[in-house]
Amino acid sequence: MLHIQFLVDKEKVRGKWFLKYHEKPEERILIETENFCREIEDKWKAKETLVSSAFKKITGIELRGEFIVFVFHPDLEMAEYLDARTIEWGYKEFYPNYLVIGIAHELLHCITHDFYTKLTDDEKWIFHSLVYLAIDEDLRFLLNSKAEYFSSSIIYTYHRKLIVTAKNILPKWEEYTANTNSKNIIDLYRELSF
Ligand SMILES: [Zn+2]
Repeated sequence: MLHIQFLVDKEKVRGKWFLKYHEKPEERILIETENFCREIEDKWKAKETLVSSAFKKITGIELRGEFIVFVFHPDLEMAEYLDARTIEWGYKEFYPNYLVIGIAHELLHCITHDFYTKLTDDEKWIFHSLVYLAIDEDLRFLLNSKAEYFSSSIIYTYHRKLIVTAKNILPKWEEYTANTNSKNIIDLYRELSF
């Protein structure tokens, strides 16, 4: 079962806004955040079945559990996962299906949280690159049209080290995705590092 709650916590929105812009947000910002929250929820619901099956196919991991997505104003330009079931999202839809892809990226972080937290910083870059290839590349190809790797219009927004690492492991990734076996993304990570 998969259950995702999309919520706006006005105090959190005010707090993040103040941190970034050093002033209180106008009422308009809170209304736009509520509207944005409904937009994300609608877009996610429309694609949930498709995304869930693609997620399993690409990562070898079932997308299930209960999660909370705290939605922020897209002008805040921030997103992260906080723990195994909580996400913060505040980026606009940069390209078609980007919101769904972004949420799926954070969900993969949530689901692999226990494994990820035991890794060293260097190891985390490698695993994070696999998350990137799985979701920001392969899921994007599935939802939109197949394109070249690293051709996204927003590639510049990602951390350089993430992209460099992902480029290095792309041959292994393509080998992994070409083989229909029972390996999952964590198995692949272990193969890469040992
Ligand atoms: Zn990430």
